Amino acid sequence: MLGFLKDRQRNRLKARPFPNEWLTIIKRNVAFFVRLSAADQAELLERIQVFLAEKNFEGCAGQEITDEVRVTIAAQACLLLLHRKTDYFPRLLTILVYPSTYLADEQRPITPDIWEEGKSHRAGETARTMGSMVLAWDTVKSGAEDPSDGKNVVLHEFAHQLDYENLAADGTPALATRNEQLAWREVMRTEFASLRAAEATGIPTLLDTYGATNAAEFFAVSIEAFFERPVMLRSQHPRLYSELQNYFRQDPVEFSAERTRAI
Ligand SMILES: [Zn+2]
Repeated sequence: MLGFLKDRQRNRLKARPFPNEWLTIIKRNVAFFVRLSAADQAELLERIQVFLAEKNFEGCAGQEITDEVRVTIAAQACLLLLHRKTDYFPRLLTILVYPSTYLADEQRPITPDIWEEGKSHRAGETARTMGSMVLAWDTVKSGAEDPSDGKNVVLHEFAHQLDYENLAADGTPALATRNEQLAWREVMRTEFASLRAAEATGIPTLLDTYGATNAAEFFAVSIEAFFERPVMLRSQHPRLYSELQNYFRQDPVEFSAERTRAI
C-alpha cells in the first residue's frame, strides 16, 4: 500500500474508540500498563488498534484465539513502538499461538564442526524470512504479569522483528544515520564480548546469558532487560542503556516496577 494511504488508514484506526473490554483485559493482564504516563497509555492504545487490524493470529494445538490472547500480545509488542515513527513490524504478518511451550526441532553446535539434532522446548521464535512468529500463550501471560523479572517472550520475539528492519538479523535495528550505526555497533560489540566472557567464566550477569549466543540474541535479551530491569541495566551497563534509550526514545526507569523490589 502507498505510504500516504497506509498513514491515512492507520490514523482512522487510531481514532476509533478503544473497546472497553480490551482495556479491561490490558489492566488485568499487562502489569506495566498502569505505570505508564497517561500520554503513553493513550499512545499505546492507538498503536494496539493499528497492530490488531494489521496482524493475523492463528491458534495451534487447540489454542483458541480470543480477544484476551490478541490484546495481551499486542499491548506488550506495542510498548516497543512508543514515541517512534514506525511501520509496525512490517516483515511480520502472522502470529501463531500455542497453549504452552512446544517442542521444536533444533540443531545445536557441540563444537563448531559437530552439530547435535534434537528437540527442544520453546516459548517463542521468529526469523527474518518467516513472516510469522510463534508464541506460547502460558509464557506470554506469565511474562505480562511480572514486569520486572527480566523475562518477557513477547518483548524478546518482537525485538527480533525490530532487528530485521534493516534487512539483517545482526543485532542492529534500522538507525537513521551512519554515526548512530557506528556508535551502536561499538557499544554492542563491547557489551556482547563482556557477556560472552562472563558466560565462559560463570560470572553471574544481569543480562540473560542466552544473549551470548550471537549478536541478534544479545539485542533481544538486552531489550528484555531494558524494559524489565532498567534500574539495574542503567547502573551496570550505562552505555548499553543509553544506546537503547536513544533508539526507543523511552526511559523505562520512569515506569519500572523494579525499584520496589529488593535489588
Ligand atoms: Zn531470540
